[in-house]
Amino acid sequence: MYANILVPIDPSHKDRHDGAFEMAKLLGGDGAKITALTVVEPIPAYVGIGGILPEIDAQVNKNVGEALAAFAEGRDVETVILRGSPGTQIVEYAKQKGVDCIVISSHQPGFGDFLLGSTAARVVRHAHCGVHVIR
Ligand code: ADP
Repeated sequence: MYANILVPIDPSHKDRHDGAFEMAKLLGGDGAKITALTVVEPIPAYVGIGGILPEIDAQVNKNVGEALAAFAEGRDVETVILRGSPGTQIVEYAKQKGVDCIVISSHQPGFGDFLLGSTAARVVRHAHCGVHVIR
């Protein structure tokens, strides 16, 4: 059984996260802490020409926060949003927070020919802990 499980969530893929949460529950049993993490990639500077970057940033935070809360609703999970490169941030967060298992989907549904998507591949290669990949 694991005690501290991280479930990275890409909010743009609605249909693939139920299985990850269910697997986290199974792997952790009743006592485990489960964290749902979404990483928002930085908005390119040119988008902010005219000084509107803070507004866009705030809107993105709001939208992502709502999407993540919707995934987490009814589940006993903590939600976290970070900025940066998803693969790197997931691996760093897991290490900093003493996560002992990461549960991640392998790739977008329909991309069956690929073994792993780029974020999943980075996490599998660089995580300090076990990674459970859902096909
Ligand atoms: P694909 O390119 O096919 O979507 P990825 O490797 O990017 O493959 O995504 C696989 C999984 O990686 C997602 O289901 C999710 O668990 C995680 N992931 C991808 N992007 C993010 C992100 N921005 N924040 C958190 N997790 C992510």
